[in-house]
Amino acid sequence: ATRSRRPHVALLPTPGIGHLIPMAELTKLLVARHGFSVTIITLAISASTAQATLLSSLPHSVSSLALAPVPLHDLPPDANIETTMAVAIVRSLPGLRDALSRLRSSDNLVAFVADIFGTDAFDVSRELGVPPYLFFPTNLLTLSLLLHLPELDATTSCEYRDLPAPLRLPGCFPIPGPDLLQPIQDRSNDAYRWVLHQARRSWEAEGILANTFDAMEPEAANILQQTVPGRPPVYLVGPLTQSGKNEADEGAECLRWLDRQPKGSVLFVSFGSGGTLSMAQMAELALGLELSGQRFLWVVKSPSDGGDASEAYFTVQSKEDPFRFLPAGFVDRTREVGLLVPSWAPQAAVLNHAATGGFLSHCGWNSTLESVKAGVPMVAWPLFAEQRQNAAMLAEGSRIALRLPRAEQGIVSREDVARVVKELMEGEEGKAAHQRVAELREASARCLEEGGAAYTALDAVANKWKATN
Ligand code: UDP
Repeated sequence: ATRSRRPHVALLPTPGIGHLIPMAELTKLLVARHGFSVTIITLAISASTAQATLLSSLPHSVSSLALAPVPLHDLPPDANIETTMAVAIVRSLPGLRDALSRLRSSDNLVAFVADIFGTDAFDVSRELGVPPYLFFPTNLLTLSLLLHLPELDATTSCEYRDLPAPLRLPGCFPIPGPDLLQPIQDRSNDAYRWVLHQARRSWEAEGILANTFDAMEPEAANILQQTVPGRPPVYLVGPLTQSGKNEADEGAECLRWLDRQPKGSVLFVSFGSGGTLSMAQMAELALGLELSGQRFLWVVKSPSDGGDASEAYFTVQSKEDPFRFLPAGFVDRTREVGLLVPSWAPQAAVLNHAATGGFLSHCGWNSTLESVKAGVPMVAWPLFAEQRQNAAMLAEGSRIALRLPRAEQGIVSREDVARVVKELMEGEEGKAAHQRVAELREASARCLEEGGAAYTALDAVANKWKATN
């Protein structure tokens, strides 16, 4: 059979809907703007309803291919998500090799794109003569940390949380050790070894596509966009976020509820696709929201009492009815001002609704970009992954988020919740954060205009791929 000359790209998102969402946006642009066809390759551990819905909403030229499940039962029950993801990918490499090699014979496969935990797949791709690229679904602070980690590892003997001074990465907001990436907080943990391994291998990519834009981190953007021999070129293709304009979302009850609320009056509360709180913390948050007197729309997930904030990461849905964990009487007392949604809400549409005036967020990068594009300031409530360092950067660097005081005894008190939420929605600091996020919103819109930075960067990569034809 004659191979179609249409250039084809294969992508391997790291398991987790937060990784798939921005990659899916990237594929839409590759199809619409550059006439590529695309295959998104998924792993069995990330199969969720949210993932299936997203994949089925993509254009015809985007196919998806699910690799066979691999055994993971030998991993310790308390293995970090980073370990689980990296091991799942390594064990899926034979399946991936078959899939890529079939695609190479049937299609004009010009590039392979993995993201952070998929760098071991670079070998398979090179073996087949397909250039490997890295899609980086978060910010330049995290990318700088990853690129620098091998050196940091070699030159530091203590735990990073004990570093005497905040870590200063070139052009980045300095980050105190305890706020650095969660899986590097314990250097004896397997998760640390995996992150370090991915960090070393990320240098092997032919190029890195980062989902961010220069106004978010101007100095780091400047530094990382310079050509450095031996370091992959970095393309700032962001901010790519879900549009929030699909039919299922339009009908959502919470959007109708927002229609009935005054402009800018509602605080949206959500911890991303997989973030959960402990039961005690969940109760304290509820009482804090009540005490704040503000209107709120809260996406409630069942608490995690094993203390693992990423418990729902792969499944997205709560295992049990999450409302039964709320404090007694809370639902009745807040009926006039609050709406609770179990597990999942159409977040992009909520953030873009005129009634939404603030976002209490776990600071996942997609959530952050969506908030910026909607011009909504945040309260930072980081849980895991790179969220603490994002929170530090957003609160003290770009100053579009207010930060809660560090939790004593591990619990943020209702008084602190109420005070910071009120400040965001009504106070001077909230007003200032709102102004700054409005500026970033403008800048992000300029990136996404014809001739803007995001498209220019994407076109440069796409044209390189087409030239390997
Ligand atoms: N999301 C959503 N509804 C929800 C929770 C999450 O649409 O109820 C979307 C959210 O808009 C974002 C993504 O899921 O696009 C979450 O990504 P993020 O990087 O913020 O966090 P993660 O889920 O990876 O921790």
